[in-house]
Amino acid sequence: MTATDQTASATTENLTDGFHVLVESLLKNDLDKMYGVIGIPVTDVARIAQAKGIRYIGLRHESDAGNAAAAEGFITGKPGLYLTVSAPGFMNGLIPLKEATENGWPVIMMSGSSSRELIDMGEGDYEGMDQLNYAKPFSKAAYRVDKVEDIPLVVARAIRAACTGRPGGVYIDLPGDTLGQTIDATVAEGLLYKVNDPCPAQIPAQNVIDQAMELLATAKKPLIYLGKGAAYAQCDEAIKQFVESTGAPYLAMSMAKGLLPDNHPQNAASARGMTMREADVVVMVGARLNWMLNFGKGKHWNPDVKFIQIDIDPTEIDNSRYIAAPVVGDIKSTIGLFNEYLAKKPYHADPAWMAAIVADSEKNNARFAGATTADTVPMTHYNALGAIKKVTDANHDVYIANEGANALDDCRDIIDMYLPRHRLDCGTWGVMGVGLPYAIGAAVTTGKPVISIHGDSAFGFDGMEVETICRYQLPITVVILNNGGIYRGDFKNLGDDGDPSPLTLSACGHYEKMMEAFGGTGYYAKTPEEVEKYVAAGVASGKPTMVCCELSIHSGKESGHITYLNPQPVTGPLVGNEQEDLAEHREDGKLVD
Ligand code: ADP
Ligand code: MG
Repeated sequence: MTATDQTASATTENLTDGFHVLVESLLKNDLDKMYGVIGIPVTDVARIAQAKGIRYIGLRHESDAGNAAAAEGFITGKPGLYLTVSAPGFMNGLIPLKEATENGWPVIMMSGSSSRELIDMGEGDYEGMDQLNYAKPFSKAAYRVDKVEDIPLVVARAIRAACTGRPGGVYIDLPGDTLGQTIDATVAEGLLYKVNDPCPAQIPAQNVIDQAMELLATAKKPLIYLGKGAAYAQCDEAIKQFVESTGAPYLAMSMAKGLLPDNHPQNAASARGMTMREADVVVMVGARLNWMLNFGKGKHWNPDVKFIQIDIDPTEIDNSRYIAAPVVGDIKSTIGLFNEYLAKKPYHADPAWMAAIVADSEKNNARFAGATTADTVPMTHYNALGAIKKVTDANHDVYIANEGANALDDCRDIIDMYLPRHRLDCGTWGVMGVGLPYAIGAAVTTGKPVISIHGDSAFGFDGMEVETICRYQLPITVVILNNGGIYRGDFKNLGDDGDPSPLTLSACGHYEKMMEAFGGTGYYAKTPEEVEKYVAAGVASGKPTMVCCELSIHSGKESGHITYLNPQPVTGPLVGNEQEDLAEHREDGKLVD
């Protein structure tokens, strides 16, 4: 019997079951992809989903399955779906659930669980756990479905909770006995429905728009700050029109890069410090005044700055400081109303302000240019990324997944993005272990080539997904920037037991052999020319590829750009203490004394 025959046989006596009703409910709502790791009691959820036309992608860790689904949520605005087994699988799946909620991305985690009565009586079931209650603090909403008739409803509620307002992660608890319950197939068919308008427009009142635009009209040095909420809102043209009609400089947060092409003349990225210190009216478009923006206060900002803040979540306003013009609403509607207002009462920034930013940008760019084009060997993050930039500049539709410390910060600064929602990285929470799963989610969702750029440390959290990439033959080129450690590879053990330092990893390790082990192509690159050649070959091939880049063990700063978040020991900073260049001590891919 084929899988399709087996699923058909479940309905032979006009009975169906929880598995089938779940899959039909998902399909009814156009949720046609599912990521997961299967086992008791959800194996048949995946098998039946696949048989009925949902694309199932099996990953090697539940955290990766959740992150792949979250990437789909960010790129499409439809909730990504992932499936886990009970207790341990469930707990592994909670991290991406919380991450998606922190990032504001719609995702639905479905986990198998034990029968309620065994859990509620504490009888000690196999992988038994009160999962619903554990999921609640890690999710935007959490539901358990105990009756087969309620499955269409739980799917609908989960979709609406994931998408409405600020999107987030929703948990559905699927006890094995609910999946196994039967119901008349005709009755079940009648229960299925498609959610009507899961992400309704939230239109701000006209007086709120007027107040915001009146404040903008007073700006001598305006700034527009685009966040990943603006990218998520999928109103790219309207945002472009707003930015261009005002003539104001803009800054894009990491995952808003590409909403306007990074080479846009109003992009103030290269003069970020000066622009933030001097801007007097700042329009926040789907970006939070959280740690990433120094909470909107302190020495990084003009002390007299006034904020106009657009956010769909009313509680985001005044999160960390006074907001002069709050605009609670969805970005698409709001920017549309801004544009209507400005069509009647145009505002244009003083060109001298943009000119000052351009002058500062040119100065800063000149300082950096040499580093990204240098032919230094062993390579630094700068010249390795400079080589990758040549490939991405020639392939604008490549997606970038990116994780690490310096590998993250330098990539964000060096690699220009040209299209919206093409960059996925460590995000609001600043987590590792997202790179390969985001790459997988992006490749599965779009079918487009992905370059996944990792520090050697970050890669350790999700590296086993190389096998997944090969199994599904995904068009992903994985790049490891190997500087031999967490932050970098030149730290010494400050004690005398002879172990590696806590920050040390394998300098000159041949990560590319992991790709070869599963049938992909592996390259080892020591020079920027090799990096460019191999990354270009990977992208052109559309096949699983890995380029392991040998960097100097001295390349990189401790904690990248966020060293200031480290508390200081009373004895003062503990720094890398091996200052000589160890290039000459490399032999056959190993560091030798
Ligand atoms: P970044 O990290 O890029 O600064 P954040 O994730 O901090 O971005 O902020 C995104 C903000 O966008 C969140 O506060 C979220 O509530 C808001 N948001 C998300 N989608 C929309 C939307 N469609 N309309 C308005 N605000 C949105
Ligand atoms: Mg490293």
